[in-house]
Amino acid sequence: MSDFSLALNEDQLQLQKWVHDFAETVIRPAAHEWDEREEFPWPIVEEAAKIGLYGIDFLMNAFGDKSGLTLPVAIEELFWGDAGIGMAIMGSALAAAGISGLGTPEQVMEWVPQCYGTPDKVQLGAFCVSEPDAGSDVSSLRTRAVYDEAKDEWVINGTKAWITNGGIADVHVVVATVDPELRSRGQASFVVPPGTAGLSQGQKYLKHGIRASHTSEVVLDDVRVPGSCLLGGKERLDAKLARARERQTTGEKQPAMATFEATRPAVGAQALGIARAAYEYALDYAKERVAFGKPIIQHQAIAFKLANMATEIDASRLLIWRAAWLANNGGFTNAEGSMSKYKASEVAVRVTEEAIQILGGYGYTREYPVERWHRDAKIHTIFEGTSEIQQLVIARAISGMRIE
Ligand SMILES: Cc1cc2nc3c(=O)[nH]c(=O)nc-3n(C[C@H](O)[C@H](O)[C@H](O)COP(=O)(O)OP(=O)(O)OC[C@H]3O[C@@H](n4cnc5c(N)ncnc54)[C@H](O)[C@@H]3O)c2cc1C
Repeated sequence: MSDFSLALNEDQLQLQKWVHDFAETVIRPAAHEWDEREEFPWPIVEEAAKIGLYGIDFLMNAFGDKSGLTLPVAIEELFWGDAGIGMAIMGSALAAAGISGLGTPEQVMEWVPQCYGTPDKVQLGAFCVSEPDAGSDVSSLRTRAVYDEAKDEWVINGTKAWITNGGIADVHVVVATVDPELRSRGQASFVVPPGTAGLSQGQKYLKHGIRASHTSEVVLDDVRVPGSCLLGGKERLDAKLARARERQTTGEKQPAMATFEATRPAVGAQALGIARAAYEYALDYAKERVAFGKPIIQHQAIAFKLANMATEIDASRLLIWRAAWLANNGGFTNAEGSMSKYKASEVAVRVTEEAIQILGGYGYTREYPVERWHRDAKIHTIFEGTSEIQQLVIARAISGMRIE
C-alpha cells in the first residue's frame, strides 16, 4: 500500500519528460501526415520500440509502480503528442492486459512478450471482444469456441468488429462463448497465436478520428488453437462453468469486463492528453490573435472559456490519478475508474470543441491541429465503455440497485 500523493517522484518526473520529448520531437511532427494517410504508422512505432517506449519493459515498469500514477502520466504525454499514433503505440497493451489478467503465469510469460516483439521485429497484439451485434452488451457475444477433446484443441468461429490492430496483429486475444446459455458467465478468452489458419482481417474501417490507429473486423473461420491457449486453463474454466450452472455466484468477473475495468483510468489519461494539447494551443493562440484592437483573451468570453477548460482538465486529471492509485491500492469502491474515464472523455470533447471556437475559421481547417484533436477526442466517449455505460456503472455503484 502506498500513500496517495499528487507529487510525482523522481522516476515519474523523468519518465514524464522522456515521453514528452518523444511526443514533441517525433510524434507531433508526424501526426498530420499519418492522419491524412490513415495507415498504421510503422516507422514511428519502430522508433518508439528502439527507445523502449513500445515494449514489454515499458509496460512492466508502468504496471510495477505501486502508486499507479506512472501509466497515466506517460499516456497523457503520449496522447498530447497525437492520439492516433498514441493508440498505435498503446493498442497492444489491451491484449497484454487481457493475458496478464486472465492467464496463468506460464501463459503470461509466453504471450505478453509476443504482443510486442523486439525493436528489430516489432509485433502487435489485439484484444477482440466486440462484434457487429454486441458492443456495450458483451453478454450477447456470438463467437463460439467448441472443445475438440480428441485433439485437445478449441475450434473458434465468429466475426469480431472494430478491433484495434485487428488482422495486422501477431497475437489476437479472442473472447468467445463456450456455453451460450450462461451468457457472460459462459465466456472464455483464447490466445490465437501468430499465423494461425482461419483468422483473417475483414473490412478495415475508415474513421472520423484516431486515423493512424488501425481498426478492422476479424473473421474467425474454424480457427483451431491448442488447449494451452485457453487463458487460465481448462480446469479453471470447467469449475467456473459448473458454479455458474449451479447458479452460484462465481465471484469472477466476466472476462471482457475485468480487462476494461482495470484499463479505464488509462483510457481517461488518453483523453486528458488530447484535451491538454488543445487547451495549450488555444491559450497561446488567444494571447496572439488580435480582434477589436486587443488579444482575444482580453475579451472575457474567450478568457472564461480558457478558464473553464483549465479547470475541467485539472478535475479530470485528479479523478484519473485517484482511480489509478485505487486500482493499485485496494481497488475501486464507488466506480472511480468509470468516473475518471467518463469525465475525461466528455471534457476532451468539450475542450477540443472550444479550442476550435477560439481559433475561429482557422480552427475549422485541417491546416491547424485542433479539428484533428476534436475528431480524436470523440472516440473516447465510445470505446472501452460508452459514456452511457460508464453512467450505468456509476449509478449502480452509488445506488446498489439494478438499473438497466
Ligand atoms: C476506433 C474503435 C476502436 C475499437 N477498439 C476495440 C478493440 O480493440 N476491441 C474491442 O473488443 N472493441 C473495440 N471497439 C468497440 C467498442 O468498444 C464498441 O464500439 C463500444 O463498446 C460500443 O459498442 P457499440 O458500438 O456496439 O454500440 P452499442 O452498444 O450498440 O451502443 C449504441 C448506443 O446505445 C447506448 N447504449 C447501449 N446500451 C445501453 C444501456 N444499457 N443504457 C444506456 N445506453 C445504452 C450506447 O451508449 C450508445 O450510445 C472499438 C471501437 C472503435 C470505434
